Amino acid sequence: MAIEVKNLCHIYGQDTIFEQYALKNVDLTIRDGEFIGLIGHTGSGKSTLTQHLNGLLKASSGDILYNGESIYREGFSMKELRSHVGLVFQYPEHQLFEVDVLTDVCFGPKNQGLSQEEAEARAREALALTGLDESFYKQSPFELSGGQKRRVAIAGVLAMKPEVLILDEPTAGLDPKGRDDILGLVARLHAEQGMTVILVSHSMEDVARYVSRLVVMNHGEKVFDGTPREVFRHYKELEAMGLAAPQITYVVHALRERGIPVDEDITTVEEARDAILALWKKAKGTGCCGEDKTC
Ligand code: ADP
Ligand code: MG
Repeated sequence: MAIEVKNLCHIYGQDTIFEQYALKNVDLTIRDGEFIGLIGHTGSGKSTLTQHLNGLLKASSGDILYNGESIYREGFSMKELRSHVGLVFQYPEHQLFEVDVLTDVCFGPKNQGLSQEEAEARAREALALTGLDESFYKQSPFELSGGQKRRVAIAGVLAMKPEVLILDEPTAGLDPKGRDDILGLVARLHAEQGMTVILVSHSMEDVARYVSRLVVMNHGEKVFDGTPREVFRHYKELEAMGLAAPQITYVVHALRERGIPVDEDITTVEEARDAILALWKKAKGTGCCGEDKTC
């Protein structure tokens, strides 16, 4: 299973005075089971790209292949594509509309043609995955906290059992606890359910800890695509695009500039802690920087 984006361009308002290139010649292959962070500052084309991945927008040029088949081919079922590729929109709580949580989450599977009973079974399973127990079922979605609303929205997509889950800025507007909860949930869905996940964010700090691959967008173009380590080596270029690398990248480079040989590929605070402790122990063993302050 793979989604291949080939030389994709998207122009909003084509042939009008408002013509705007949102995507330029984007090539991207998403493989089964990947956990990808799609990063870029506001207006870089992330949402436009995600909407192409489940057929909500039509490319101005280029192609998208789903399992080797063009989604623009005549007779291709967009409905089927959307049941395989689930998209949680930015601020998804704006799309909650049913009278209670359970009914809201049932909407997707019922739309897929499942019976009320089957849809409810799917909804219960999806809500359990997002950590919402039975006590939420009959509550109005509008009475929930921001983080809970977002869980309901994610459950609504999970209930359709997608193979690929795309979350557009799922932490936007949440407090730090809500943000960590949602990111933890997404990481679990990838690790435990084996889902292919695309996590869209404008914050490197948010995604660096979780994803195995980072795709960086700038002005509608894909500019970097690799492991977080590979991408953060370009931290100066990222900064020029208004995308700071995680704080720890700067700490590591500052230490190196002062002659302390920590690995420049460190991307998390935990890795930095271990590397600094190892260096400290080594130095202590040799008497350098030890308690006797010989160096
Ligand atoms: P991001 O999600 O990275 O913030 P978007 O994909 O929303 O970026 O936007 C990419 C570019 O396309 C921006 O310049 C934005 O103003 C423009 N754009 C987005 N949606 C529309 C739209 N519906 N009509 C016209 N222009 C749009
Ligand atoms: Mg966006």
